Amino acid sequence: MKITQEKVLQALASVIEPDLKKDVVELGFVSDVEIAENSVRFKVQVNNPAMHSRKRMQEACEFAIERFLGKDVKIECEVVGAEKRERDNPFEQIKNIVAIASGKGGVGKSTITANLAVGLAKMGYKVGLIDADIYGPSIPLMFDVLNEKPKAIVEDGKNLMLPVENYGVKLLSIGFFAELNQAIVWRGPMASKAIKQMFTDTLWGELDFLLIDLPPGTGDIHLTMVQTVPLTAAVVVSTPQEVALADARKGIAMFKLESVNVPVLGFIENMAWFTPAELPENKYYIFGKEGVKMLAEQAKIPLLAQIPLVQSLRESGDVGRPAVLQEATPTSDAFMQLCENFIEEIAVRNASQPPTKKVEKTIG
Ligand code: ADP
Repeated sequence: MKITQEKVLQALASVIEPDLKKDVVELGFVSDVEIAENSVRFKVQVNNPAMHSRKRMQEACEFAIERFLGKDVKIECEVVGAEKRERDNPFEQIKNIVAIASGKGGVGKSTITANLAVGLAKMGYKVGLIDADIYGPSIPLMFDVLNEKPKAIVEDGKNLMLPVENYGVKLLSIGFFAELNQAIVWRGPMASKAIKQMFTDTLWGELDFLLIDLPPGTGDIHLTMVQTVPLTAAVVVSTPQEVALADARKGIAMFKLESVNVPVLGFIENMAWFTPAELPENKYYIFGKEGVKMLAEQAKIPLLAQIPLVQSLRESGDVGRPAVLQEATPTSDAFMQLCENFIEEIAVRNASQPPTKKVEKTIG
Protein backbone atom coordinates (compact mmCIF):
# COMPACT_ATOMS: atom_id res chain seq x y z
CA MET A 1 0.00 0.00 0.00
CA LYS A 2 1.32 3.43 -0.93
CA ILE A 3 1.88 5.61 2.09
CA THR A 4 0.32 9.05 1.91
CA GLN A 5 0.05 11.87 4.40
CA GLU A 6 -3.71 11.38 4.45
CA LYS A 7 -3.38 7.74 5.44
CA VAL A 8 -0.86 8.54 8.15
CA LEU A 9 -3.22 11.11 9.63
CA GLN A 10 -6.15 8.72 9.36
CA ALA A 11 -4.15 6.14 11.30
CA LEU A 12 -3.04 8.63 13.95
CA ALA A 13 -6.61 9.87 14.37
CA SER A 14 -7.20 6.69 16.33
CA VAL A 15 -4.65 7.70 18.95
CA ILE A 16 -6.24 9.44 21.92
CA GLU A 17 -4.22 11.90 24.02
CA PRO A 18 -4.71 10.43 27.52
CA ASP A 19 -5.03 13.73 29.44
CA LEU A 20 -7.04 15.70 26.93
CA LYS A 21 -9.24 12.79 25.81
CA LYS A 22 -9.19 13.82 22.16
CA ASP A 23 -7.33 12.32 19.23
CA VAL A 24 -3.91 13.73 18.45
CA VAL A 25 -4.84 14.79 14.90
CA GLU A 26 -7.89 16.74 16.03
CA LEU A 27 -5.74 18.42 18.69
CA GLY A 28 -3.25 19.51 16.02
CA PHE A 29 -0.55 17.57 17.90
CA VAL A 30 0.91 15.85 14.81
CA SER A 31 3.48 17.80 12.82
CA ASP A 32 6.43 17.47 10.44
CA VAL A 33 5.09 14.41 8.66
CA GLU A 34 7.66 13.17 6.14
CA ILE A 35 7.06 10.23 3.90
CA ALA A 36 9.56 8.20 1.91
CA GLU A 37 8.96 5.02 -0.08
CA ASN A 38 8.45 2.66 2.83
CA SER A 39 8.94 4.83 5.83
CA VAL A 40 7.21 7.57 7.68
CA ARG A 41 8.50 10.10 10.10
CA PHE A 42 6.55 12.57 12.26
CA LYS A 43 6.45 14.49 15.50
CA VAL A 44 3.66 14.13 17.97
CA GLN A 45 2.97 16.06 21.13
CA VAL A 46 1.84 14.68 24.45
CA ASN A 47 0.47 16.76 27.29
CA ASN A 48 2.55 15.14 30.01
CA PRO A 49 6.26 15.46 29.10
CA ALA A 50 7.35 12.66 31.50
CA MET A 51 9.38 9.85 29.96
CA HIS A 52 6.81 7.08 30.58
CA SER A 53 4.01 9.09 29.00
CA ARG A 54 6.10 9.90 25.93
CA LYS A 55 7.02 6.23 25.59
CA ARG A 56 3.38 5.18 25.78
CA MET A 57 2.42 7.77 23.16
CA GLN A 58 5.15 6.49 20.86
CA GLU A 59 3.91 2.90 21.20
CA ALA A 60 0.32 3.96 20.55
CA CYS A 61 1.30 5.83 17.39
CA GLU A 62 3.45 2.96 16.10
CA PHE A 63 0.66 0.50 16.77
CA ALA A 64 -1.87 2.67 14.93
CA ILE A 65 0.37 3.08 11.88
CA GLU A 66 1.19 -0.63 11.74
CA ARG A 67 -2.44 -1.58 12.00
CA PHE A 68 -3.39 0.78 9.23
CA LEU A 69 -0.43 0.57 6.88
CA GLY A 70 1.08 -2.84 7.62
CA LYS A 71 4.04 -4.12 9.60
CA ASP A 72 6.67 -3.40 6.96
CA VAL A 73 6.52 0.36 7.30
CA LYS A 74 9.51 1.88 9.03
CA ILE A 75 8.30 4.36 11.62
CA GLU A 76 10.25 7.20 13.20
CA CYS A 77 8.10 8.92 15.76
CA GLU A 78 9.43 11.74 17.92
CA VAL A 79 7.28 12.52 20.93
CA VAL A 80 7.65 15.95 22.49
CA GLY A 81 6.17 17.31 25.71
CA ALA A 82 3.68 20.18 25.50
CA GLU A 83 6.07 22.77 26.85
CA LYS A 84 8.77 22.02 24.33
CA ARG A 85 6.35 22.28 21.46
CA GLU A 86 5.25 25.72 22.65
CA ARG A 87 8.81 26.93 22.28
CA ASP A 88 9.11 25.31 18.89
CA ASN A 89 6.48 27.80 17.93
CA PRO A 90 7.38 30.80 20.08
CA PHE A 91 4.81 32.96 18.33
CA GLU A 92 1.85 31.02 19.67
CA GLN A 93 1.69 32.94 22.94
CA ILE A 94 2.16 36.35 21.34
CA LYS A 95 -1.03 37.89 20.01
CA ASN A 96 0.36 40.79 17.97
CA ILE A 97 3.86 41.46 16.70
CA VAL A 98 4.27 45.01 15.42
CA ALA A 99 7.40 46.48 13.85
CA ILE A 100 8.11 50.17 14.33
CA ALA A 101 10.06 51.41 11.35
CA SER A 102 11.51 54.63 10.00
CA GLY A 103 13.18 55.41 6.72
CA LYS A 104 15.70 57.70 8.34
CA GLY A 105 17.63 57.66 11.63
CA GLY A 106 17.11 60.22 14.38
CA VAL A 107 13.42 60.86 13.68
CA GLY A 108 12.44 59.60 17.14
CA LYS A 109 11.50 56.02 16.35
CA SER A 110 12.89 54.62 19.62
CA THR A 111 11.39 57.42 21.69
CA ILE A 112 7.98 56.71 20.18
CA THR A 113 8.37 52.92 20.57
CA ALA A 114 9.37 53.25 24.24
CA ASN A 115 6.40 55.49 25.04
CA LEU A 116 3.98 53.34 23.05
CA ALA A 117 5.16 50.22 24.92
CA VAL A 118 4.90 51.83 28.37
CA GLY A 119 1.56 53.45 27.48
CA LEU A 120 0.10 50.08 26.43
CA ALA A 121 1.41 48.50 29.64
CA LYS A 122 -0.25 51.34 31.61
CA MET A 123 -3.53 50.44 29.90
CA GLY A 124 -3.15 46.92 31.28
CA TYR A 125 -1.84 45.07 28.23
CA LYS A 126 1.01 42.55 28.42
CA VAL A 127 3.81 44.13 26.42
CA GLY A 128 7.22 43.06 25.19
CA LEU A 129 9.76 45.11 23.28
CA ILE A 130 12.63 43.94 21.11
CA ASP A 131 15.22 46.57 20.30
CA ALA A 132 16.62 45.44 16.97
CA ASP A 133 18.33 48.72 16.11
CA ILE A 134 21.74 47.36 15.25
CA TYR A 135 23.06 50.82 14.37
CA GLY A 136 22.36 52.34 17.77
CA PRO A 137 20.27 50.39 20.26
CA SER A 138 18.88 53.10 22.57
CA ILE A 139 16.12 51.21 24.38
CA PRO A 140 18.36 50.15 27.35
CA LEU A 141 19.10 53.86 28.00
CA MET A 142 15.47 54.92 27.55
CA PHE A 143 14.33 52.25 30.06
CA ASP A 144 17.16 52.86 32.51
CA VAL A 145 18.43 49.28 32.24
CA LEU A 146 21.82 50.02 30.67
CA ASN A 147 23.72 47.80 33.07
CA GLU A 148 21.30 44.91 33.15
CA LYS A 149 21.48 41.71 31.19
CA PRO A 150 18.83 39.13 30.49
CA LYS A 151 19.10 36.18 32.90
CA ALA A 152 20.06 32.85 31.43
CA ILE A 153 18.11 29.80 32.49
CA VAL A 154 18.27 26.20 31.39
CA GLU A 155 15.08 24.30 30.67
CA ASP A 156 14.97 20.83 29.16
CA GLY A 157 18.67 21.17 28.45
CA LYS A 158 18.09 24.29 26.41
CA ASN A 159 19.59 27.69 27.21
CA LEU A 160 16.92 30.37 27.38
CA MET A 161 16.86 34.08 28.15
CA LEU A 162 14.52 35.85 30.56
CA PRO A 163 13.81 39.38 29.32
CA VAL A 164 14.76 42.35 31.48
CA GLU A 165 11.69 44.15 32.81
CA ASN A 166 10.95 47.78 33.65
CA TYR A 167 7.82 49.97 33.74
CA GLY A 168 5.72 46.86 33.10
CA VAL A 169 7.44 46.09 29.78
CA LYS A 170 9.55 43.00 29.06
CA LEU A 171 12.64 44.01 27.12
CA LEU A 172 15.40 42.55 25.05
CA SER A 173 17.89 44.68 23.17
CA ILE A 174 20.54 43.81 20.69
CA GLY A 175 22.58 46.16 22.92
CA PHE A 176 22.53 43.50 25.69
CA PHE A 177 24.63 41.28 23.46
CA ALA A 178 27.55 43.70 23.41
CA GLU A 179 29.58 45.40 26.09
CA LEU A 180 28.76 49.03 26.70
CA ASN A 181 30.56 51.33 24.24
CA GLN A 182 31.87 48.40 22.27
CA ALA A 183 31.11 48.84 18.60
CA ILE A 184 29.78 45.80 16.85
CA VAL A 185 29.41 45.66 13.13
CA TRP A 186 26.37 43.48 12.67
CA ARG A 187 26.29 41.77 9.33
CA GLY A 188 22.90 40.88 7.91
CA PRO A 189 22.81 37.16 8.71
CA MET A 190 24.27 37.74 12.18
CA ALA A 191 21.67 40.37 12.95
CA SER A 192 18.77 38.21 11.75
CA LYS A 193 20.07 35.30 13.75
CA ALA A 194 20.22 37.46 16.89
CA ILE A 195 16.66 38.70 16.23
CA LYS A 196 15.45 35.18 15.69
CA GLN A 197 17.02 34.09 18.98
CA MET A 198 15.25 36.91 20.76
CA PHE A 199 12.07 35.07 19.78
CA THR A 200 12.98 31.42 19.87
CA ASP A 201 15.37 31.35 22.84
CA THR A 202 13.43 33.66 25.13
CA LEU A 203 10.73 33.02 27.70
CA TRP A 204 8.33 35.83 26.81
CA GLY A 205 5.26 34.21 28.33
CA GLU A 206 1.92 35.47 27.10
CA LEU A 207 1.96 38.84 25.39
CA ASP A 208 -0.73 41.04 23.86
CA PHE A 209 1.87 43.04 21.96
CA LEU A 210 5.47 42.51 21.04
CA LEU A 211 6.89 45.70 19.52
CA ILE A 212 10.07 45.58 17.46
CA ASP A 213 12.16 48.73 17.23
CA LEU A 214 13.72 48.19 13.78
CA PRO A 215 16.93 49.81 12.60
CA PRO A 216 16.27 52.83 10.37
CA GLY A 217 16.30 52.20 6.63
CA THR A 218 15.08 49.70 4.09
CA GLY A 219 18.14 47.67 3.08
CA ASP A 220 18.59 43.92 2.83
CA ILE A 221 19.13 43.63 6.56
CA HIS A 222 15.68 45.15 7.22
CA LEU A 223 14.09 42.97 4.65
CA THR A 224 15.48 39.83 6.26
CA MET A 225 14.38 41.01 9.68
CA VAL A 226 10.78 41.65 8.67
CA GLN A 227 10.69 38.28 6.96
CA THR A 228 12.05 36.45 10.00
CA VAL A 229 8.93 36.90 12.14
CA PRO A 230 5.20 36.80 11.40
CA LEU A 231 4.40 40.49 11.76
CA THR A 232 0.83 41.57 12.45
CA ALA A 233 1.56 45.04 11.15
CA ALA A 234 4.10 47.83 10.87
CA VAL A 235 4.03 51.45 12.01
CA VAL A 236 6.14 54.07 10.25
CA VAL A 237 7.57 57.03 12.16
CA SER A 238 8.75 60.15 10.34
CA THR A 239 9.28 63.86 10.83
CA PRO A 240 7.46 66.19 8.42
CA GLN A 241 10.76 67.04 6.69
CA GLU A 242 10.98 66.21 2.98
CA VAL A 243 14.14 64.06 3.26
CA ALA A 244 12.51 62.01 5.99
CA LEU A 245 9.27 61.66 4.03
CA ALA A 246 11.09 60.35 0.96
CA ASP A 247 12.60 57.60 3.13
CA ALA A 248 9.28 56.92 4.84
CA ARG A 249 7.79 56.26 1.37
CA LYS A 250 10.52 53.66 0.80
CA GLY A 251 9.52 52.14 4.14
CA ILE A 252 5.92 51.66 3.01
CA ALA A 253 7.13 50.25 -0.30
CA MET A 254 9.18 47.64 1.59
CA PHE A 255 6.19 46.44 3.61
CA LYS A 256 4.09 46.29 0.46
CA LEU A 257 6.56 44.04 -1.36
CA GLU A 258 4.98 40.77 -2.34
CA SER A 259 7.63 38.86 -0.43
CA VAL A 260 6.87 40.83 2.75
CA ASN A 261 3.21 41.86 2.50
CA VAL A 262 2.77 43.34 5.97
CA PRO A 263 -0.05 45.85 6.46
CA VAL A 264 1.08 49.33 7.47
CA LEU A 265 -1.13 50.14 10.44
CA GLY A 266 -0.40 53.84 10.47
CA PHE A 267 2.04 56.73 10.49
CA ILE A 268 3.30 58.74 13.40
CA GLU A 269 4.42 62.30 12.77
CA ASN A 270 7.14 63.17 15.24
CA MET A 271 8.56 66.62 15.93
CA ALA A 272 5.40 67.91 14.26
CA TRP A 273 5.81 71.42 15.75
CA PHE A 274 7.46 73.30 18.58
CA THR A 275 5.63 75.37 21.17
CA PRO A 276 7.76 77.49 23.54
CA ALA A 277 6.56 77.45 27.17
CA GLU A 278 6.23 81.25 27.25
CA LEU A 279 4.06 81.29 24.10
CA PRO A 280 1.71 78.33 24.61
CA GLU A 281 -0.59 79.39 21.77
CA ASN A 282 2.17 79.43 19.15
CA LYS A 283 3.21 76.51 16.99
CA TYR A 284 6.44 76.67 15.02
CA TYR A 285 6.78 74.13 12.23
CA ILE A 286 10.52 73.62 12.42
CA PHE A 287 10.65 70.55 10.16
CA GLY A 288 7.81 71.63 7.88
CA LYS A 289 4.06 71.56 8.35
CA GLU A 290 2.00 68.37 8.32
CA GLY A 291 4.20 66.51 5.83
CA VAL A 292 3.43 63.12 7.38
CA LYS A 293 -0.25 63.94 7.69
CA MET A 294 -0.35 64.65 3.95
CA LEU A 295 1.62 61.52 3.14
CA ALA A 296 -0.84 59.50 5.21
CA GLU A 297 -3.76 61.01 3.33
CA GLN A 298 -2.16 60.25 -0.04
CA ALA A 299 -1.33 56.68 0.93
CA LYS A 300 -4.75 56.19 2.59
CA ILE A 301 -3.05 55.02 5.75
CA PRO A 302 -4.22 56.32 9.16
CA LEU A 303 -2.21 58.98 10.98
CA LEU A 304 -1.95 57.61 14.53
CA ALA A 305 -0.45 60.68 16.19
CA GLN A 306 1.32 63.99 15.81
CA ILE A 307 3.88 64.36 18.58
CA PRO A 308 5.39 67.83 19.08
CA LEU A 309 9.03 68.64 19.67
CA VAL A 310 9.32 68.95 23.45
CA GLN A 311 12.47 69.47 25.45
CA SER A 312 11.20 67.41 28.38
CA LEU A 313 10.56 64.50 26.02
CA ARG A 314 14.22 64.44 25.05
CA GLU A 315 15.23 64.80 28.72
CA SER A 316 12.95 61.99 29.90
CA GLY A 317 14.48 59.73 27.25
CA ASP A 318 17.98 60.59 28.40
CA VAL A 319 17.24 59.80 32.06
CA GLY A 320 15.43 56.58 31.25
CA ARG A 321 11.90 57.49 32.32
CA PRO A 322 9.58 57.54 29.29
CA ALA A 323 7.44 60.71 29.26
CA VAL A 324 4.19 58.72 29.16
CA LEU A 325 4.80 57.70 32.80
CA GLN A 326 3.86 61.21 33.93
CA GLU A 327 0.21 61.86 34.63
CA ALA A 328 -1.81 64.28 32.53
CA THR A 329 0.93 66.33 30.89
CA PRO A 330 0.31 67.41 27.26
CA THR A 331 3.02 64.96 26.16
CA SER A 332 1.76 61.97 28.15
CA ASP A 333 -1.80 62.71 26.96
CA ALA A 334 -0.55 62.71 23.35
CA PHE A 335 1.08 59.30 23.86
CA MET A 336 -1.99 57.82 25.58
CA GLN A 337 -4.08 59.03 22.65
CA LEU A 338 -1.56 57.34 20.33
CA CYS A 339 -2.02 54.08 22.29
CA GLU A 340 -5.79 54.28 21.92
CA ASN A 341 -5.58 54.88 18.17
CA PHE A 342 -3.07 52.05 17.90
CA ILE A 343 -5.41 49.59 19.69
CA GLU A 344 -8.28 50.65 17.47
CA GLU A 345 -6.31 50.13 14.25
CA ILE A 346 -5.02 46.75 15.46
CA ALA A 347 -8.60 45.67 16.06
CA VAL A 348 -9.60 46.81 12.56
CA ARG A 349 -6.61 45.05 11.04
CA ASN A 350 -7.25 41.78 12.85
CA ALA A 351 -10.93 41.83 11.96
CA SER A 352 -10.31 42.45 8.28
CA GLN A 353 -7.13 40.58 7.34
CA PRO A 354 -5.64 37.15 7.99
CA PRO A 355 -2.47 36.87 10.10
CA THR A 356 0.76 37.58 8.25
CA LYS A 357 2.69 34.43 7.57
CA LYS A 358 6.33 34.15 8.40
CA VAL A 359 8.39 33.84 5.26
CA GLU A 360 10.25 30.59 5.56
CA LYS A 361 13.84 31.03 4.62
CA THR A 362 17.17 29.85 5.84
CA ILE A 363 18.91 32.31 8.04
CA GLY A 364 22.62 31.76 8.21
P1 ADP B 1 15.64 57.14 16.29
O1 ADP B 1 15.24 55.95 17.07
O2 ADP B 1 14.70 57.44 15.17
O3 ADP B 1 17.06 57.14 15.86
P2 ADP B 1 15.50 58.55 18.83
O4 ADP B 1 14.20 58.15 19.40
O5 ADP B 1 16.74 57.93 19.37
O6 ADP B 1 15.48 58.43 17.24
O7 ADP B 1 15.56 60.14 18.94
C1 ADP B 1 16.69 60.88 18.60
C2 ADP B 1 16.85 62.02 19.61
O8 ADP B 1 15.75 62.93 19.48
C3 ADP B 1 16.82 61.54 21.05
O9 ADP B 1 17.73 62.28 21.79
C4 ADP B 1 15.39 61.83 21.51
O10 ADP B 1 15.34 62.08 22.90
C5 ADP B 1 15.06 63.07 20.71
N1 ADP B 1 13.64 63.18 20.39
C6 ADP B 1 12.88 62.30 19.72
N2 ADP B 1 11.62 62.74 19.58
C7 ADP B 1 11.57 63.95 20.20
C8 ADP B 1 10.55 64.95 20.41
N3 ADP B 1 9.32 64.78 19.93
N4 ADP B 1 10.89 66.07 21.11
C9 ADP B 1 12.15 66.23 21.57
N5 ADP B 1 13.14 65.37 21.41
C10 ADP B 1 12.87 64.24 20.73
